[in-house]
Amino acid sequence: MSDFDFDLFVIGGGSGGVRAARIAANHGARVGIAEEYRFGGTCVIRGCVPKKLLVYASSFSESFEDAEGFGWHVPEPRFDWARLIASKDLEIARLEEIYARNLDLAGVEIFRSRATLIDPHTVELSTHGHRIRAKHILIATGGRPFVPDFPGSHHAVTSNEMFDLPRLPERAVVMGGGYIACEFAGILNGLGATVTLVYRGKRLLRSFDADLGAHVTDEMRKKGIEILTETDVAGIERDGERLTVALTNGETREAGLVLAATGRVPNTEGLGLERAGVSLGRRGEIPVDEWSQTAVPSIFAVGDVTDRLQLTPVAIREGHAFADTVFGAQPTRADHVLVATAIFTQPEIGTIGLTEAQARAEGQVEIYRSTFRPMLHTLSGRDERMLMKLIVAKDTRRVLGVHIAGHAAGEMIQMAAIAVKMGATKEDFDRTVAVHPTASEELVTMRTPLPEPAGAA
Ligand code: NDP
Repeated sequence: MSDFDFDLFVIGGGSGGVRAARIAANHGARVGIAEEYRFGGTCVIRGCVPKKLLVYASSFSESFEDAEGFGWHVPEPRFDWARLIASKDLEIARLEEIYARNLDLAGVEIFRSRATLIDPHTVELSTHGHRIRAKHILIATGGRPFVPDFPGSHHAVTSNEMFDLPRLPERAVVMGGGYIACEFAGILNGLGATVTLVYRGKRLLRSFDADLGAHVTDEMRKKGIEILTETDVAGIERDGERLTVALTNGETREAGLVLAATGRVPNTEGLGLERAGVSLGRRGEIPVDEWSQTAVPSIFAVGDVTDRLQLTPVAIREGHAFADTVFGAQPTRADHVLVATAIFTQPEIGTIGLTEAQARAEGQVEIYRSTFRPMLHTLSGRDERMLMKLIVAKDTRRVLGVHIAGHAAGEMIQMAAIAVKMGATKEDFDRTVAVHPTASEELVTMRTPLPEPAGAA
């Protein structure tokens, strides 16, 4: 009989931890898991899932307007924030229950408690007060929002609070220019708030292809969002319900809400990692190798806490690969190359592969780009355009990047990602007969590359 209580003990019941626990148990391991809050993690409880529900809710305001162009007479619509949040809460509770039930069905023992490391094989459960010995320990504690320090920064909320606001503000200031800032600016605007987005850099969504950021910025402005770039929040003062936001350009904005969407940091504080021999990286992340193993052989980590790619499906892949490797005798590395992603801005973004700038740095490329008015807006009259862009290697003809902004871009990119991952060439795209009439047919009908910019080799 082993002197361990479990073969695997998982700390953190989010996407990565739950997947690893279930698969390890399916491979026959004795598995325990501790979660101090709710099963499902950021994605299910206060991230991807409720965010997308809010995106759906916010997009109806335009749909009501667009319907007029198709002959509908829509009476003045009214929106009820409390009702939306109550429906959202029911759905999240349902999903959380499924997560816990699946763990149970797999035979995983659940501990609803905070867990900290004591040594490389021991964790302590704070609510139960007892210690557990495990042969392997997996840290899957995710990340949390980061708010910079400035006068009045404590008046700002983070994405964590956005899903449970008591009421929708009439005016909001959103700070940041990444995924979360741009997604919430769209949600708040669509639900009827007056939104100012304040970003310290030059270009929103700067980690994506430059055309995507520029296109979405233009479209967000057309929808009425005020976007201030090269500007930061200098301070926030509160007077009752009213917040006065001082900006670095000398202006102020009044708001009922300030959202700081200024990045996320790994959740490693107070976990006892140093005590167990795991030293942290510069941003507080847990350094791991390609097998998700830390410098301490019995301790592994997956998901946002490792600060590799902060995406749910990536955490799931990492958790699964870890369990197959350690408990299934199937050595598997999670693949972090060519990961497609969708950003639920309005309009939406779908993207995979190299940006134009990255591809040009690696070799000669052809760029195919098209912007057009989608069919929906021929009758709706809305001034909104879609963007499609292909980055093609001149020598191998491989499609190195696909970038889409517009309705259903997230759905389209999943399909394009299969082709790109398989190494499809531009000619493979061209040989594929278009699906008509759709917006995605543009992906296989672009024939003329853009002229080379002056100075390009
Ligand atoms: P991002 O890293 O995407 O963006 C953070 C933004 O905050 C950047 O614009 C950054 O500016 C700005 N910022 C950082 N520090 C400061 C500061 N001190 N003062 C002012 N501005 C600052 O993080 P998010 O919080 O938007 O998202 C976190 C992660 O969550 C993403 O990287 C993504 O992987 C994941 N996510 C994925 C989603 C999806 O798949 N659809 C949706 C939401 C989140 P600068 O650019 O100058 O550094």
